[in-house]
Amino acid sequence: MRILLSNDDGIEAAGLRALEEAAAPFGEVFVVAPSTEQSAKSHSFTMHEPLRVNSHGPNRWSVTGTPADAVYLALHGILPQRPDIVISGINRGSNLGTDVLYSGTVAAAREAASNDVPAIAVSLHIPEGAEVLHWATAQLAVAQLLRRYPDRPLPLGEVLNINVPNVPASEVKGWRVAPLARRRYAVMVREERDPRGRRYYWIGGPHDRFDGEPDADGPLCMAGFVTVTPMSLDTTAHASLGAAGSIGLEDRCFTT
Ligand code: MN
Repeated sequence: MRILLSNDDGIEAAGLRALEEAAAPFGEVFVVAPSTEQSAKSHSFTMHEPLRVNSHGPNRWSVTGTPADAVYLALHGILPQRPDIVISGINRGSNLGTDVLYSGTVAAAREAASNDVPAIAVSLHIPEGAEVLHWATAQLAVAQLLRRYPDRPLPLGEVLNINVPNVPASEVKGWRVAPLARRRYAVMVREERDPRGRRYYWIGGPHDRFDGEPDADGPLCMAGFVTVTPMSLDTTAHASLGAAGSIGLEDRCFTT
């Protein structure tokens, strides 16, 4: 099995090293990751400046761009052959619920999925103030997935989003397949002045709460389960197509 790894925390990240260790027993591992931290860059694509690729030893490269850039270049330029699977992570911090809209970790997997390569995103949920990071627990989750993968290949065009609680493996309560929660953050806009007196801003507040189902990924991961959410590329609100039709716009002439 050819396994391509990427992330959004950058080529030097501890979570990427942990993922490389976890994947190594299952096949030939390639790493193509951003050269610097790209968390919360989502699926952005660099089209107006050049990208450079640097070698970091056998089968390891960094790209001076985003996670989506890295996976795109890996699939269409760097790797000698198509990988059988792409895994993105292990992210330093969870990507639960609506985090997936901002996440570069998930976007790297989504870029693979949109190229019809099976794709998994893996994140370690790190509560504020955590002193020990249990990468080994996330490594075990990756190993359990890859052990099953050849018998149960993932659907093309979908991403499996996985979040692992930051506890020793013996304390994990189990696996749960769960829908995405609605994650709420406190609003933070901090205004400062630079040394020349001009205003600048820091945005993005801390986690507040999860809304919606109690059996969605956020509450379950915080309760100690490894959560798995299959995600599709199609973000159409299919349930609302009928309601949108019932507005009656289709019956109207556009020009009058
Ligand atoms: Mn990250």
